[in-house]
Amino acid sequence: MLNANELYHVFLDIYCKPRWWSDDPFTVMFQAVLVQNTSWNSVEKTCSAIQNKLTPEYISNLSVEELEILIRPCGFYKAKARTIQTLVTWFGQYDFNSEIVQKTLMPKLRKELLSIRGIGAETADVILVYAFYKPSFIIDSYTRRLLLRLGYNFYNDAAIRQFFETDLPRDAQLYGWYHWLILEHCISFCRKSPKCDICPFREKCKQLL
Ligand code: SF4
Repeated sequence: MLNANELYHVFLDIYCKPRWWSDDPFTVMFQAVLVQNTSWNSVEKTCSAIQNKLTPEYISNLSVEELEILIRPCGFYKAKARTIQTLVTWFGQYDFNSEIVQKTLMPKLRKELLSIRGIGAETADVILVYAFYKPSFIIDSYTRRLLLRLGYNFYNDAAIRQFFETDLPRDAQLYGWYHWLILEHCISFCRKSPKCDICPFREKCKQLL
């Protein structure tokens, strides 16, 4: 079986340079909540409608009703509005300053994020990696499905995390790129109904299976 590092390089060869979520930490935080249980298209539409206003200062001054209207196209807008408001309050404890957040130890940040209603492990790790450059590997349903199809039999998410974090250097940028590569592959080929016949990973995959 390939280790996590070898697997990364296989994907890198196929998809070339991965993309980053956004250079703006608050955009990452806001979108990480919005994208839960909805399509990326809805998130992009919502964010492009408020492009110049997507700042923690602006969002924190909205009433919950105003925020609900703003994010309504993304679904579950009442719950998401509450989560975003709490997240903004949390960010306010760091003066809306991502550099101050970055200086804080990752376990503390992760614990604080996970204490916010509506933020689970996946969203917390997305925020840690893409907004604050903290190396906490993102494990989502795509990652679980891909690994299972490749023949890795992990008992739980902790075992998956160990698989990635043991082999790879603790590097947030690498984790962010890796997550993007898995997303790209699973959206393009390794879907719920996999397109194995045209998958560029087919030869390697079959060797693994
Ligand atoms: S061949 Fe490709 S699409 Fe099919 S299971 Fe393997 S990785 Fe997924």
